Amino acid sequence: MQEIRENVPLAPLTTFDIGGTARYFVDVRSETDIREAILWANERRIRFIILGGGSNVLVPDEGLDALVIHLVGNLYGVKDGILDAWAGTNLLLAITACAQQGFGGWEKLAGIPGSIGGAIRGNAGAFGSEIKDFVLMVRALHPQTGEVRDFKNAACDFSYRHSFFKDNPEWIILRTSLQLYNVDPERSKQLAQETVLERERRHLQNVKAAGSFFMNPIAPKQVVEVFETEKGVKSREGRVPAGWLIETAGMKGATVGGAIASLQHPNYLVNRGGATAANILELAAKIKAEVSKRFSITLDEEAALLR
Ligand SMILES: Cc1cc2nc3c(=O)[nH]c(=O)nc-3n(C[C@H](O)[C@H](O)[C@H](O)COP(=O)(O)OP(=O)(O)OC[C@H]3O[C@@H](n4cnc5c(N)ncnc54)[C@H](O)[C@@H]3O)c2cc1C
Repeated sequence: MQEIRENVPLAPLTTFDIGGTARYFVDVRSETDIREAILWANERRIRFIILGGGSNVLVPDEGLDALVIHLVGNLYGVKDGILDAWAGTNLLLAITACAQQGFGGWEKLAGIPGSIGGAIRGNAGAFGSEIKDFVLMVRALHPQTGEVRDFKNAACDFSYRHSFFKDNPEWIILRTSLQLYNVDPERSKQLAQETVLERERRHLQNVKAAGSFFMNPIAPKQVVEVFETEKGVKSREGRVPAGWLIETAGMKGATVGGAIASLQHPNYLVNRGGATAANILELAAKIKAEVSKRFSITLDEEAALLR
């Protein structure tokens, strides 16, 4: 395990670029590192918090009075189409590296920032593809009991932006096996590049945000009908886009301090410079209130509010 450091700024480790310091902080590259870090924290009766790529978290302005265990290192191997990857592995890097070896199928996930562990916890997805479509097994550690368990896909309880691990945050995802498919390396590389370009074209990339701040809620039938008529598209699973609700409720472009509900994607709450976590939370509260008033729908946060 690397040295445990004190008062480490967390903002640069998050895509929001917001938040205070970690009282204690350590980079980990293996299960052994994680176990040592937990032991260290337990001996001192200090809480610990897991951080991956930092692309779906909001760190409070006052920082975290805890040991932040930061999963780092791109450690993976692919054999016969099965990718075995450490949870800290960067998702885009894995997609690109597997393509070079002639394995793919998951190119629509290219450009989703963050780690494979983070992607599994939130069942990350884009353009109709989700990480669950590729998961064979997830290995996770229960820090209280020390148990390491292999979860097959069905046991992960995946659904839209949801998994067993989101409901049971005490489990730490260590690694995963993913089923990939034989692909032409050049074609796979091209598909991944096209996906990233499409994301850039849609202004989904390179913004100081945490991606979609709220999940797309299941909406009452009449709201679904209005959405479908207005947009000319079918709702998936009775859900309507949170961005559409936010825009229709008049909150597109709403600001609090340095935080704005994006003009391109109102469900992206963006740090347009100097935003604090308090700004983001106040803006989120205002949006929730307006959406609730207009539609009687409660928006739930997709981004994890660390505390
Ligand atoms: C510009 C932008 C675009 C985005 N687009 C998309 C998109 O298209 N689709 C999509 O689904 N998401 C999108 N996101 C959100 C984000 O990229 C995903 O949720 C991503 O999978 C989070 O992974 P991470 O490693 O960054 O997690 P983090 O932000 O580090 O952590 C998120 C949560 O997961 C927990 N966690 C992280 N690693 C582990 C682990 N190993 N074990 C247990 N818990 C863990 C953390 O404690 C935290 O609660 C976007 C984000 C940004 C900034």
